[in-house]
Amino acid sequence: MLEQIIEPTLLTQFKEALENSGNVVVTCHKSPDGDAAGSNLALKLILDKLGKKATVVTPDNVPEDMAVLYFANMAAAVGYALCFVLLVLICCLDFNGLSRLADMRELVANAKCNKLMVDHHINPEPICNPILSYPQMTSTCELLYRILVAIGYSDMIDLDVATCIYTGMMTDTGNFSYNSNHAELYIIVADLVRRGVDKDRIYKLTLGTSSEARMRLNCYAIAEKMRLFPSHKASLTILDKRDLRKFNYQVGDTEALANMPLAIPMVVWSVFFREERGFVKVSMRSEGDFHVNTLCAKYFNGGGHANAAGGEYHGPLRGAIDTFHQILRDLTENNVTI
Ligand code: 5GP
Ligand code: MN
Repeated sequence: MLEQIIEPTLLTQFKEALENSGNVVVTCHKSPDGDAAGSNLALKLILDKLGKKATVVTPDNVPEDMAVLYFANMAAAVGYALCFVLLVLICCLDFNGLSRLADMRELVANAKCNKLMVDHHINPEPICNPILSYPQMTSTCELLYRILVAIGYSDMIDLDVATCIYTGMMTDTGNFSYNSNHAELYIIVADLVRRGVDKDRIYKLTLGTSSEARMRLNCYAIAEKMRLFPSHKASLTILDKRDLRKFNYQVGDTEALANMPLAIPMVVWSVFFREERGFVKVSMRSEGDFHVNTLCAKYFNGGGHANAAGGEYHGPLRGAIDTFHQILRDLTENNVTI
């Protein structure tokens, strides 16, 4: 028996929204990760079982290492606007605001239908009703599991649904290496394994898999492009367009890179910049009480979790680097202990 965390009225509203729906779009944030793809596909499979017509539509393509989930279809939004016609319900999973939808933003904002949110990021925008937002969850997939069990859908969690849910829980905790001290997590994992989940295979196919080019890119980034700032317990790793071209960069290839410098005992927070067309993608990771979501929000129009956050710098790489140095100066000036 799991702790009752989710408000009963929200559970009722969630269940009614699903059961009264017909055409449903399930969606997540741009650059979907294991939790976004896993929660989207799990809910799509549940909706199929309820006899609904559910389509997963993502703002952009799902990285190849989510191949473990490819038994169900995911479609990028481009060309899929038709799904938004005659729509009854949009399920927004693993994101808390319209800006995370990139080019799909207007489509979702303007859709005249019911919208519900299931998410674990703080401060959700009031864009859905109901909003099931629980930042204490490791992952949207853990939250979805708890919801499904609480509304009596436990029998619908077959091997495919369980595989999706496990993938999100595992990838969002770095294979249960951070944010993973809550004992109930392992009750859920035990239940998913009992339902047939092959956790060793899922690890191998997701975090344990790399193309040759990806591995060379990541090793090159650490060997040649990582700089340490001992006085601020920081690291900054930058990949510019030339680097990315040289190693035939594919979406998702740098997913693990921001975490890597944290293995160095002196590094408490790690910053990664990737030069994109017209902007710089920012990722930050940290340990303990030094929170990077506030830094991403203040300096890079972003947000996320206390120890894993991101944002964007709209301008040239040089400007993003200047901003990083400004952060260091501001931390010193404000006597922040790191
Ligand atoms: P990543 O660095 O892997 O892109 O993202 C890490 C975390 O930060 C994720 O939880 C993600 O939801 C959040 N995040 C990444 N980029 C952005 C952004 O541009 N805006 C906001 N609000 N959150 C972001
Ligand atoms: Mn997540």
